[in-house]
Amino acid sequence: MKINEFDIPYDIDIEKILEEITNRNAKKVLIQLPDGLKPYASKILEYLSLKDVLIVFSTDPCYGSCYIADYIGKEYNFDLLIHIGHDKFVEKEEIPTVYITANYLGSIEELAEKATKFLYERGFKKIGLVTNYQHLKNIEAFSRIINSHGLEVIIDEKSKGLVLGCKIDGALRISEKVDVVLYLGGGDFHALGIAMAIDKPLFIADPYRNEIRDIEKLKKRVIAQRWWAIHNAKNVKNFGIVLVSRRGQFNEKIALDLKYKLEEKGKKVTLLISDNVNWDEISSFTYIDVFIVTGCPRISIDNRDNFKKPILNIEEAYELIKVLKN
Ligand code: SF4
Repeated sequence: MKINEFDIPYDIDIEKILEEITNRNAKKVLIQLPDGLKPYASKILEYLSLKDVLIVFSTDPCYGSCYIADYIGKEYNFDLLIHIGHDKFVEKEEIPTVYITANYLGSIEELAEKATKFLYERGFKKIGLVTNYQHLKNIEAFSRIINSHGLEVIIDEKSKGLVLGCKIDGALRISEKVDVVLYLGGGDFHALGIAMAIDKPLFIADPYRNEIRDIEKLKKRVIAQRWWAIHNAKNVKNFGIVLVSRRGQFNEKIALDLKYKLEEKGKKVTLLISDNVNWDEISSFTYIDVFIVTGCPRISIDNRDNFKKPILNIEEAYELIKVLKN
């Protein structure tokens, strides 16, 4: 069954979902969607048109498959979890889980032409191309259009050009070989992570806005905020190390290592655990001066403005430890 792009602008494999539900005789199914797909939940239900199967959509954040809701599925006796939009991330799920990709159905031709003109006018000849799950199917076609105008496009073979917010090895491998990196996808989330790790220019080719944009200003602001947070953390006493109870983000070993190293430097540490780290939840620990989040590294980078005290990720916490005096 083909999705009509006027109903849902993503190619979701409805046949596979139906097949998995039927073959497993699942009667109670939990579906997880990224935020961009949540507005289409009722359309997905229409496409599934299942009788005698209870389908429940999770409202929890779902920025990656590290946000897997299998433990909720187990707790409340769901037979099957359908996780749409990302690939497998955790080693083993608590209940039967199926990962379904959601490829963007919109056209990318005009955007690829625009990107070619943009890059050509700026004198770039070798282009490194990366993308996220939603546009992975389009990366080859996008590359061919740029290629056809005489620019060379390099896509990392191992990752096939795929990057996650916390997994950008494919971008790192090609960055040395190219003049510029082009990220095909919406938002700044993935592109910012790459831009902060490479010393080549990076631009976003955004299919939703049909525009090519620079990320340099944002990168500079985020790097300045990062060093401000590390600098402010140097002279304070009380640290809160936050474990994140999301299955793919629980890093107890690292949290304990950080605790040990900070205590060695004379700091006081309180260990905390949270399902969804936000300022409202952690601000009640009023005596804590700095929070270190050991889950998704992007919580501190993308949300620093929402926290009223310095917040660091694992990498930043180790940077801090390097500059702390004994
Ligand atoms: S960047 Fe964060 S949300 Fe995305 S996959 Fe990594 S840990 Fe999960």
